[in-house]
Amino acid sequence: KLVVLGSVNADHVLQVPSFPRPGETLHGRNYQVIPGGKGANQAVAAARLNADIGFIACVGDDSFGINIRENFRMDGIDITAVKMQPNCPTGIAMIQVSDSGENSICLSAEANAKLTAAAIEPDLERIRQADYLLMQLETPLCGIEKAAQVGKDANTIVILNPAPARVLSDELLACVDMITPNETEAEVLTGVTVTDAESAQQAANILHAKGIQTVMITLGAKGVWLSQDGRGDIIAGFRVEATDTTAAGDTFNGAFVTGLLDGLVLESAIKFAHAAAAISVTRFGAQTSIPTRKEVEDFLAQ
Ligand code: ADP
Repeated sequence: KLVVLGSVNADHVLQVPSFPRPGETLHGRNYQVIPGGKGANQAVAAARLNADIGFIACVGDDSFGINIRENFRMDGIDITAVKMQPNCPTGIAMIQVSDSGENSICLSAEANAKLTAAAIEPDLERIRQADYLLMQLETPLCGIEKAAQVGKDANTIVILNPAPARVLSDELLACVDMITPNETEAEVLTGVTVTDAESAQQAANILHAKGIQTVMITLGAKGVWLSQDGRGDIIAGFRVEATDTTAAGDTFNGAFVTGLLDGLVLESAIKFAHAAAAISVTRFGAQTSIPTRKEVEDFLAQ
């Protein structure tokens, strides 16, 4: 069984001709509200790929929060620990996508800020019972640290996707079994700019020294640098026509853990995750882009 702990966001996406300057008013188009949030994306990815998964999260009691909780259930997620916060909006991301393809994003944590160490007290037994615990960094650190410690003490394998990038304590990193930073996050955690195999291994070694056995640095279209016990190699990704890379990392993480739950060895779980993430970059949006198990199997059979 897998437990994902993390954020839920409503992504308010607007296409803009260019980003408005201070005081300027522009006309956007194609407004959409798309379910997002790194925690929710990773939970949905695992569920669509048929993982036995429970989600620990906080949503608001607004219509988005009520509906998204029901959507999680329909995707096959155990929502017992998805808590509805009274008089509180669900977390949001205001996203502008310019015609040149750049984006500009402003987040507000809202209900996600309530996922504290105290709030997850009722869920600790779930974490102890789980085989894997998967987390990111869009919810309060005290809750993440508590969950990681409880997971470590119970021999639950703790997987951290350290996104968005921030500096983390040695105490937290010592509870982590596997870490999946992208290049930016790896640099923030280690101070090493990842540009090639040598620098990737240098960054990985710093994370190994903090007590993390498996380091996977995701390299976008290039794939992943996988390092265990000081030895690493690249596991290449799949070549596809990318239209929107939103949630590529989230799909990768949810699919990777699902592969491990299915009993795949590391390299095979990474290949499975590359396939799921590659499909997601060919589609628009966060949760709208995450494939089903059948779609990934068909892709791998090509
Ligand atoms: P993040 O989205 O968190 O920054 P990356 O950009 O490193 O993470 O991408 C995570 C994973 O998504 C990659 O390891 C790969 O499997 C897949 N991926 C990302 N971009 C592409 C792409 N352009 N083509 C194919 N796969 C991609």
